[in-house]
Amino acid sequence: MALVETLKKVVDKTIENRKNDLNDISQEIWKNPELSFNEVKAHECLTNFLEKEGFTVSRKTPLETSFVAKYGDCTGGIKVGVICEYDALPKIGHACGHNLIAEAGIGAALALKAAMDSSKDLKINLIVYGTPAEEGGGGKCLMLEKGVFDEADICMMSHPTPVEISTPIWLARIQLDIVFHGKTAHAAAAPWEGINALDAAVACYNNVSMLRRQMKPTNRIHCTIVDGGERPNIIPERAEILYCTRSQKDKDNEKLIEKLRRCAEGAAQATGCTMEMKESGPFYAAVNTNQVMIDLYIGNAKSLGVPFEDDHMRETFQASTDMGNVSAMKPSIHPIYKIKSEDVNHNHGFTKAAGSSESQLPTLNSAKSMAMTAIDIVCEKGLLNKIQKSFKESLLS
Ligand SMILES: [Zn+2]
Ligand SMILES: [Zn+2]
Repeated sequence: MALVETLKKVVDKTIENRKNDLNDISQEIWKNPELSFNEVKAHECLTNFLEKEGFTVSRKTPLETSFVAKYGDCTGGIKVGVICEYDALPKIGHACGHNLIAEAGIGAALALKAAMDSSKDLKINLIVYGTPAEEGGGGKCLMLEKGVFDEADICMMSHPTPVEISTPIWLARIQLDIVFHGKTAHAAAAPWEGINALDAAVACYNNVSMLRRQMKPTNRIHCTIVDGGERPNIIPERAEILYCTRSQKDKDNEKLIEKLRRCAEGAAQATGCTMEMKESGPFYAAVNTNQVMIDLYIGNAKSLGVPFEDDHMRETFQASTDMGNVSAMKPSIHPIYKIKSEDVNHNHGFTKAAGSSESQLPTLNSAKSMAMTAIDIVCEKGLLNKIQKSFKESLLS
């Protein structure tokens, strides 16, 4: 049997043998949902596990709840980065299934370690990245700034959703904070003395609603009004809206932001308010999926019986992730895999699905597919060069 096939069998067997341990990890994280940058228990659980398995673990690196764990130290080995997420959402727990992302990442790492132990010919330097605060905090953006991803040759992670798409469209996204300033007045005695900031916010909301009709169907603008005044009998002097703008290409998002600015400026002018608009939170780049890597992932997943029957939905099922920023720096993949759920991510129903036993098989299949993809890349001479060439070309398009 060819070495690559033997090693893939090791991957398969390792994950099958360790599936209870892997399930325990995702259950522990699922039962203790922690918000962005506060993932203390998840950080503890994952770093303790990896250390026990023989990885060299740098805890709290470079952020309080991020980590970097390494295994293997061979000269000239390909540096394979496997990424875990583990943050939850306010009030709805693990409604994005990041407990399963952690499980898939750890599963892939365990399997690769076993394959490395079984053959000196598998020259990998394995790096597991624990990345907090994907839900808005941009943990990976901060880690990129600190340079922890610099040494990786390739990076991979996968994400559970109710659909299975090998190359999903992950939109570029920015969060913007718009504040309108007006003037208070007694709402009954002298409302004409006031300048109503809430009116400006509502006008801005409506302007954007009209703008939406002329937007590309691939763009998104959505918001919440987070401040609309204090009492109905005081004309609000301050109103605040948080917007997200998203688009398939980073540069389209810049155009969208300009259109949003005009909607806000128009609303301010009409109501006599002043307006401030600023970025709040990190910019998430669109994910740049490496075609060579994803073709290998698809081949491996199909060998495990994964049909990828939802690829036709990629134009409608879209979201954003800080993995986009990693994929702009390193050849990367971020496929989504299907777990059984009636509800889409960020719903109570998806929280339930992410903790169910039925989510285990697809998560383990994704872990295996990632590990097998790394084995393909390391075992076939010239494949890393091909990946790097494709990465460079993708940056030009
Ligand atoms: Zn999410
Ligand atoms: Zn997510």
